[in-house]
Amino acid sequence: MTYEAVIGLEIHVQIKTRTKMFTSAPYVYGAPPNTLTDAVVLGLPGTLPVLNHSAIEKCAQLGLMLGCEIAEVCKWDRKNYFYPDSPKNYQLTQNEQPLCLGGRVEIELPGPSRNIEGAHRWVTLNRIHLEEDPGKLSHEAFDTLIDFNRAGVPLAEIVTEPDLFSSTEAVAFLNALRNCIVYAGISDCDMEKGQMRCDANVSLRPVGSEQLGTRTEMKNLNSISNVKAAIEYEIERQTALLEAGERVLQETRRWDVDSGTSFSLRSKEEAHDYRYFPDPDLMPVQMDRKRVAELAAELPERPLETQRRYQSEFELPYTITSVLCVNRELSDFFEAALKTHPAPKAIANYITNDLLRELSAASEHGDSALSVSECPLTPEHIATLAKIIDEGLISRQIGKEVFTEMFRTGEMPDAIVERKGLKQSNDSGEIEALCREAIANNEKAVGQYKEGNEKAINALKGPVMKATKGKANPAMLDALLKKLIDEG
Ligand code: ADP
Ligand code: MG
Repeated sequence: MTYEAVIGLEIHVQIKTRTKMFTSAPYVYGAPPNTLTDAVVLGLPGTLPVLNHSAIEKCAQLGLMLGCEIAEVCKWDRKNYFYPDSPKNYQLTQNEQPLCLGGRVEIELPGPSRNIEGAHRWVTLNRIHLEEDPGKLSHEAFDTLIDFNRAGVPLAEIVTEPDLFSSTEAVAFLNALRNCIVYAGISDCDMEKGQMRCDANVSLRPVGSEQLGTRTEMKNLNSISNVKAAIEYEIERQTALLEAGERVLQETRRWDVDSGTSFSLRSKEEAHDYRYFPDPDLMPVQMDRKRVAELAAELPERPLETQRRYQSEFELPYTITSVLCVNRELSDFFEAALKTHPAPKAIANYITNDLLRELSAASEHGDSALSVSECPLTPEHIATLAKIIDEGLISRQIGKEVFTEMFRTGEMPDAIVERKGLKQSNDSGEIEALCREAIANNEKAVGQYKEGNEKAINALKGPVMKATKGKANPAMLDALLKKLIDEG
């Protein structure tokens, strides 16, 4: 019998807010342990939660970005459990009436080659709800340490339908989801900082069957490569069990990165184990429809839509748009540059090739320039560079040199051209003399050109470019050489 894998993901995303979900305690990454707490975070008796409306609005925006329906009313439930990461002995979450319902995410599967556009399809979501993060336990050799800094931080939990069928699809889904969330400014989704964590539910069923098999759940996968490896391991493990005539047990498993295997943590808890009940301290939240419409209007285009628009509007190739559009910083930079000089192809090339190359070189050298916002270049720099090339002030070749220099100093390209005397020479008298010299010195190339080998003329351009330090106008040089040979 052949089996098909069925996968459903639950993704926790930390919503970018200044303060926590139910109190004014701030949250910043990397603060010393237990410095970002207060009486509410620590669950001290007599404290009461106060809603963070910004977290609700951002979660609603996330839902709108992913095509969810925003509930008329959402409410808060207590998920009761006894564990040291939660001083209240319950987690505030939305069990019965979540904020966002349904929704779907467009994914792109890898094509036959990296440069060829892959197949697209939509993955269905079940819901998105808000909850608070628990504290973080660190298990040492003999003790367990607890840090409550993260406790109470707002999380959006995105739950998919069992609508993914391979580890490749799961990876494509997580990438597409992350791009949408980062684009909308809801979270940075930095998995290394715990801003995005994934639980993977995996089951198998005979190919052709509609019924779902028994699933296992792997908790807290903290990188996309771990999600991929954990799913693949689980598919193999379940296949072996079923082929041996055994049953898959419904359980929660832990993925162990070092050994590349997973082991059983506990048999799966059921909803009734948590004794969910409505929180008596928090009122249900009525979602104002006018405000929801405003939030929807603030949202950017989805990254794959931007990509398709760039392909049709600017005729940019997929190899460029697939780099430009996964990162909102880059696509915003591109659009800002177009306002200064509307040369989409040249500007997109500078951003996706030269700029990204310089950025990665700078970070390898240990400089702080890692992201576009941290580097000295602005959209005006790149647009002006494209402009002065189009206007014939400098050649494309000299443009490369100017790019490196302006990345280093932050000077505007025209100022660099002026300072270093890089202006393209349009002085036909000077160039003509150099051309005559080149023709006289290379009879062989001249002969080949005359016999119809057009490319032979390139050999004559080298010495002229060298003598003018690359400043001869290439189009002028080409025309002049041809004219002189034809006449001579
Ligand atoms: P729970 O609340 O117990 O975690 P849910 O019904 O909310 O269970 O489902 C959690 C996730 O598990 C969802 O992403 C869902 O798509 C997925 N899932 C449920 N059943 C299966 C199954 N048989 N195989 C694979 N994934 C499943
Ligand atoms: Mg679950």
